[in-house]
Amino acid sequence: MKERCGVIGALSAKHRDVVADIYRGLYALQHRGQESAGIYLRGSQGIKGLKGTGFVHEALGSRVSELEGWSGVGHVRYSTTAKSTLEEAQPLLYSWRNGCFALAFNGTITNFLELREKLSSLGFKFKTETDTEVIAALLAYYLAELGDYVDALSKCAEELEGAYSLIVLDDEGSLYVVRDPLGFKPLCLGFNPDEELYVAASETCALDTLNAPLLFHVEPGSLVKVTPRGYETKQLTKAERRARCMFEYVYFSRPDSEFDGIWIYEARLRIGRELGKRCPAEADVVVPVPDSGRTAALGYSEATGIPLVEGLMKNRYVGRIFIMPGERNRNEMVRVKLNPVKPLIKGKRVVLIDDSIVRGTTMKHIVSLLRGAGAKEVHVRVSCPPIIAGCYMGIDFPTKRELVASCRSVEEVRKVIGADSLMYNSIEGLIKGIGLPKEELCLACLTGVYPLRRKIDLNSLELSLGGVRRKSSS
Ligand code: SF4
Repeated sequence: MKERCGVIGALSAKHRDVVADIYRGLYALQHRGQESAGIYLRGSQGIKGLKGTGFVHEALGSRVSELEGWSGVGHVRYSTTAKSTLEEAQPLLYSWRNGCFALAFNGTITNFLELREKLSSLGFKFKTETDTEVIAALLAYYLAELGDYVDALSKCAEELEGAYSLIVLDDEGSLYVVRDPLGFKPLCLGFNPDEELYVAASETCALDTLNAPLLFHVEPGSLVKVTPRGYETKQLTKAERRARCMFEYVYFSRPDSEFDGIWIYEARLRIGRELGKRCPAEADVVVPVPDSGRTAALGYSEATGIPLVEGLMKNRYVGRIFIMPGERNRNEMVRVKLNPVKPLIKGKRVVLIDDSIVRGTTMKHIVSLLRGAGAKEVHVRVSCPPIIAGCYMGIDFPTKRELVASCRSVEEVRKVIGADSLMYNSIEGLIKGIGLPKEELCLACLTGVYPLRRKIDLNSLELSLGGVRRKSSS
């Protein structure tokens, strides 16, 4: 399960070069996508940029020094296609009748096939199968009709369904920062007063990197236009509720980021405490799965009084490795990534804490690693309740069939992973830990109830997204 994108935009009111700022900001967002990265800037020769595949340094590397510009957008992307094509990498540079723009997008447009059909019938040609290109074409269509970015994006917002946090760079260097009305994905704006630098980004950790304190989290359904003269906001669409992705709090966002007023680290600590209160265990040590289970394990240890030990070490230099198919290879990959600290495990009753169980295969191998290191018992406790349904709002989930909890009881999942006991946090415990009301969160992968504005037929949505969602670029 992977987050699929991170976006950043930077504009210097002093008209100084922002290439290095965007490059550094992309490093801060690297956890949101490792398959490709790109930067487009408004410089002396209009909008120019570059994209490449791999981590930020691999994708852009020394070629970044060829770029120049005082305003620009950047993007990191994750894709599940074996071949991550450059064409699908972002930002996407798109021409319309009177100019061009570069667009960086995080999310999934659930009605993109319908919109694509409509735009095709109007004469638009598509080079990729991505929803990003559909957003760009829709924007180009309304720009041709209205001639103004704010008006055109306002029309787009009326038609786009699903999750989107996007940043558009126009050919005058202005930035347009837009968030969907339910606010699935994070998006924020900061300002570095010494440098007179505006920064818009998926996460506040990127603002910190650029020494640009948070001005505000972009209000769901609104647009922020940033120019050298300052910024102005406009509410484009309204929704009766919010649907912030609970997984941003549980796993995706960096612990040092703040998402709509909630610090991720503090949320994870509280979620761990709730887990400890609701799912205790008779055990000697609490062991986190690094790094995803670490903060929740601390909370669990606080709530239960069971000491926390770093019983598993992570090899940080593994990077992306091609995982050979087959059970044995997968098991060996877990061994490359994780190694138990034997004296902390041997003869102990271990409570193993992780953020979630998706397919169950990795957890099964970790349990077996701990047993191999001499653990007397292994009790698994999970921050996130059972994942039973797919995600259509920007997270790359396996199909429902592959989700281990979608058609098994907790006891059956316990048998699959080979633990002595297994307990999941409750939905109430998760919500309490995050610290937002239920109506402000998306919990669809836990409940199967999708908070989209229009009623959707999940079977046809799965079918329509099926073939293309793995090629979708957000
Ligand atoms: S379905 Fe789950 S992963 Fe997808 S947006 Fe909702 S909470 Fe996040």
